[in-house]
Amino acid sequence: MNRKKADEIHVFPNLPSPTRPVVFNPNNCTGCNKCVNVCIMDILIPNPEKGKPPLVVFPDECWYDACCELHCPETDAIRLNYPLMWKVPWKRKETGEYHWVGERKPLPPNPKPPA
Ligand code: SF4
Ligand code: SF4
Repeated sequence: MNRKKADEIHVFPNLPSPTRPVVFNPNNCTGCNKCVNVCIMDILIPNPEKGKPPLVVFPDECWYDACCELHCPETDAIRLNYPLMWKVPWKRKETGEYHWVGERKPLPPNPKPPA
């Protein structure tokens, strides 16, 4: 195939962005790329080095929907890094328990009747 230099596409991880939506654990990630395939915003691409964690190329486009984390077959290979303002907890008055967006334990049912 006769390719011109102008036809080539180069993709790089977006390192200058302060946004780090997903954090990979290179010790547990097998580089299977399931998270790449299910990402609804296509912000991940496979790592050119086989077996390494995917690259985050559009971190600012992440929706924090956790599809990538939920479909990962490994334990503790990928975790969402929610924005700071999402990490603010709220407290249930009745029990004194703290909860926050994205917590792993299921939320308790809301006992209040609808308004
Ligand atoms: S799905 Fe999990 S193990 Fe596979 S590449 Fe993504 S983080 Fe790594
Ligand atoms: S949280 Fe959603 S948008 Fe962000 S990397 Fe995972 S699947 Fe993609």
